[in-house]
Parts: sequence; structure tokens; C-alpha cells
Amino acid sequence: MASNRKVLLLPGDGIGPECLGQARRVIEWFDRRRVVTFEVEEDLVGGAAIDAHGVPLADATLDKAMAADAVLLGAVGGPEWDDLAFEIKPERGLLRLRKEMELFANLRPAICFDALVAASTLKPEVVSGLDIMIVRELTGGVYFGEPRGIEDLPDGTRRGINTQVYTTPEIQRVARVAFELAEKRQNRVCSVEKANVMESGVLWREEVQKLHDAEYPRAELSHMYADNCTMQLVRNPKQFDVIVTDNLFGDMLSDAAAMLTGSLGMLPSASLGAADASGRRKALYEPVHGSAPDIAGKDLANPLACVLSFSMMLRYSFDQGEGADLLDQAVENVLAGGLRTADISQEGTETVSTTAMGDSVLRELDKLAD
Ligand code: NAD
Repeated sequence: MASNRKVLLLPGDGIGPECLGQARRVIEWFDRRRVVTFEVEEDLVGGAAIDAHGVPLADATLDKAMAADAVLLGAVGGPEWDDLAFEIKPERGLLRLRKEMELFANLRPAICFDALVAASTLKPEVVSGLDIMIVRELTGGVYFGEPRGIEDLPDGTRRGINTQVYTTPEIQRVARVAFELAEKRQNRVCSVEKANVMESGVLWREEVQKLHDAEYPRAELSHMYADNCTMQLVRNPKQFDVIVTDNLFGDMLSDAAAMLTGSLGMLPSASLGAADASGRRKALYEPVHGSAPDIAGKDLANPLACVLSFSMMLRYSFDQGEGADLLDQAVENVLAGGLRTADISQEGTETVSTTAMGDSVLRELDKLAD
């Protein structure tokens, strides 16, 4: 029996509304098929919320996000709001959402679509068929650890301080997400830290190993130093299935892995919180790219990162793996058919608008569902 899922759409700024507009059409397509039905609400975030309410995330919008089964966000920011104080900049809206929803696990897939192999800077044989998932701890570590700050020293020089700190529960909850994801993939997890030079890394390694032995013994677990992992990602990325790592290393490794696939306009992400008693997790889905003010409002942006973020929502919030596979396949077919937005255009392909790209995803969905 299909039941309604509450989805909050936050288009935001720049190309956010254009890209989310196409994702919304895809949501409506799934809704019409009634495999899973949605109750969709829309609200403001970022610069759009500043213009309307004077703050980048109104309390009422936050309440809606907390009550939703999943949130899909476009992008925030733009030159109009660049001169505002740091505390009320558009980006603070997104940070507040992540903080209040306690989204501690950031999922960044790096998938290389066959049709886009040539867009990678790496050799085709290195990236063809690539499908890895980086799970980054998002709310702890050196970006948040205390003490922090810049202090004046008696000799007139200064000292900058940040603290890398992790506790057992923080490590185990993100590792648990990684093991559970791996179970639905090749069941291989590589845990990444610098246990050779950092005590927090030693703890990370020990706690991930303990959790594995106690609860996920069937997963193949390996440990790797972050510097080696960086090299391996560029040398032979297909050796990985799921990588789990801390906030700082994850920040860098996920960007490096993303670029193996070629284009910012193709990259989705998910941020997950803790599961409640019914297994439901708070979740925010968003493309990796920003608001791209240089092309905003021109129907030029690539909406696929946003569409693929919705595919992640189907998979990870609504357990609709089949629907997600269908949508991923529709995107793959559109690309294989030679249609491209300008950011991923290549010789021999046809460059189309944001809207036309949305049209063709819907056409492929219709074909696949027939
Ligand atoms: P950006 O990701 O917006 O754009 C970088 C480049 O990639 C631009 O040339 C842009 O045209 C292109 N690009 C990005 N997404 C694209 C798409 N879907 N289709 C086609 N081309 C695309 O990064 P930026 O220029 O550094 O930042 C612009 C604004 O976005 C800033 O205000 C920044 O703070 C904000 N930002 C927001 C987020 C977010 O909302 N999560 C993330 C990054 C940056």
C-alpha cells in the first residue's frame, strides 16, 4: 500500500530554482505512477529567504524541514548577498539546516557514466564503470573541536589552534552508515585516517574495527592512511566500494573523487542524521554545485545533479532502490543518446537547455516504464 512521503523543496538561489524545477517534474512523474506518492511543500532558503524574511532560514522553514521525511535543496548564495555579515549570509541557512537536523553523515557518490568517460581528466580505462561512495563525517572533527582560535603570544608572534577530536559514538554512528550502505553494494568498506601520526586516527581505526567485528563481520573492512588513499583514488579508484572517513579528510577526498567523473553539474549528495525508533533518518539531498550566478536564469544549467539527488532520496530515504535504478538508467540513456547541457557538451553531442534536459529525462522514464 503506497503511503504519502513528505518532501520539502528548498530551491534557494541562482540556478537552484531552475534545477529543482526539473527535479520536481521527476518527482511528479513518480507520484503519478503511485509506486511512492509524495506530499510536496516548497519554501525559501538562502538569499531568497533573506530578501523575504531578513534571515537565510526562517524558523518556520526549519520546522517544516524537521517534520519532513526528506529535504531537497537547490543551491544558495550569489553576489547580491556577498556584502552581508557572515552570520546572515545565504550559506548560513544551509549550515543551520545541517546543524539543527544533526546531519552527521555526508554521502558523496562518484559514478562515471559511460557516456561521460571522456570528460574525466583520467584515462578511460581508469574511470570507466567507476562507482564509489564516500561517507564523510560531517559534524565533528577539526572543524568543530575545541580549543580553537588565534592567540597572541608574549613574544609578539601569534598561534592558530584547531583541535581534531572524535568520540566513540561519533565514529561508530558514521561507520554504521558506511557498513549499512556497503551491504547494499559490494559490502566492502575502506576506513581512512592517519593513525600513523594522530591519536584520533588510532581511535578511529580501533572503533571502526570493533564495530565491524561486533556487528558487520561479513563486510570486507580495510584501513588506509589518508595520504595513500588520495594517491589510490587517482591511481586506481575502482579498487574502492565505500570509503568512510572523518570531516577533514572527507572534505578533500570527496572533492578529489568527484572530479574523477568530470563535471560539477552531475554530482549529487545526501546528508543523513541518526535513525529514530522507526528507522527513519532526517535527510537532506542537494547537488554538490553552488548557485552558479554566471549562468543563472538562462535555462543553461545542468539539472542532472539535482535529479540524481532525488534518486538518492528514493534510495536512502524511501527504500525505493528500483525507482532509483530506473531514474539513474533514464539519465544514463539520455546521455548515451547524445544530449548534453553546455557544461558537459562534447564534439558530436547536441547541446540542450535545462528544460529540454528535464524533458528528455521524463521521456526516457516513460520509455523505461512501458
Ligand atoms: P558554483 O558551483 O556555483 O559554480 C562553479 C562553476 O561551475 C561556474 O562556472 C558554474 O557556472 C558552473 N556550474 C555549477 N553548477 C553547474 C550546473 N548545474 N550546470 C552547469 N554549470 C554549472 O561555485 P561558485 O561559483 O564558487 O559559487 C557561486 C555561489 O554559490 C557562491 O555564492 C557560493 O557561496 C555558492 N555555493 C553554494 C553551494 C551550495 O548551495 N551548496 C555550494 C558551493 C557554492
